[in-house]
Amino acid sequence: MDEFELIDQIFHRPEESTPQVALGIGDDGAVLNVTVGKQSVVVMDTLVAGVHFLDSQPPDSIGHRALAVNLSDIAAMGSVPRWATLSLTLPEVNGDWLNGFADGFFDLAHRHEVALVGGDTTAGPLAVSVTVGGEVEPEGALRRAGARPGDFVYLSGPIGGAAAALSSTEAYGDPDLKRALCWPQPRTALGMALGSIAHSAIDISDGLLADLGHILKASGNLGAKIEADKLPLFEQAVALLGYPGALELALGGGDDYELCFTAPEKRHQEILATGHRLDQDLFWIGRITEHGGCSVHGNGISLDTVSPGYQHVWPG
Ligand code: ADP
Ligand code: MG
Repeated sequence: MDEFELIDQIFHRPEESTPQVALGIGDDGAVLNVTVGKQSVVVMDTLVAGVHFLDSQPPDSIGHRALAVNLSDIAAMGSVPRWATLSLTLPEVNGDWLNGFADGFFDLAHRHEVALVGGDTTAGPLAVSVTVGGEVEPEGALRRAGARPGDFVYLSGPIGGAAAALSSTEAYGDPDLKRALCWPQPRTALGMALGSIAHSAIDISDGLLADLGHILKASGNLGAKIEADKLPLFEQAVALLGYPGALELALGGGDDYELCFTAPEKRHQEILATGHRLDQDLFWIGRITEHGGCSVHGNGISLDTVSPGYQHVWPG
């Protein structure tokens, strides 16, 4: 079997197709059925070996992560994911690696009813680029812009775990921290449910302060008062790095892929009920203010500046 046949055999899975796919992998392009009356949402993210993942990382976790970071963007847009394309740059065609990668990719794709409809395969240093398409109701997409003074600010889960996993070999060996780094779970069901409730949303890829900062800027240079004691941290990160260290990674670390969103105070109960219905933890962490940038207070912390985004630094 030549390289093309191998790649076709691994990625061409007609059984993973969905009603939206009129023509999938195998031709010069995919043909998709569109849902009349919906708007399309398109996102793309690239992972480069040594920058966004470790060469030593299991291939199934790389396949998972390549799709997960895109589904996280789709979730942050309040969109339903529908299809994906995959661009693979490979230093060699290694069947075991490709099968592992595909297992991680398709397992997540299947759970989110996303069809792989095409892609491209080239030779070069290992990199993976994924595009995902989704649908929303007209004007129903959740945006960064839209937060209003008085809004409550929420998180969909604990943060700082992925950055903590990268802080030491010991931390990388902790199952919860390693899961946060290698197996992020995109919050698509929550994103879809928030479409009609939240004023604004973003997914946390560069750290809470940087990403919440994007919401504040896009919403007209608003501020936020975050309560440090309400921030959900990973217990293991606190145990290994101390509270200040774990907090710093929660605020300025990256790769969390939780949603940060704002909603009017009067919808607080509805938000909690939504979290309950979806079995999704939700954390109230503070409020949007009219002026004054982003501040974090409590637990002996008093921070009034927005730190720069996270720089990827991988050990080993
Ligand atoms: P072309 O030369 O016309 O671009 P290719 O040989 O690159 O065609 O691709 C043939 C088919 O295989 C296309 O349908 C393409 O979308 C699909 N394909 C190629 N690589 C991948 C990949 N990594 N993942 C999914 N589909 C792929
Ligand atoms: Mg062609």
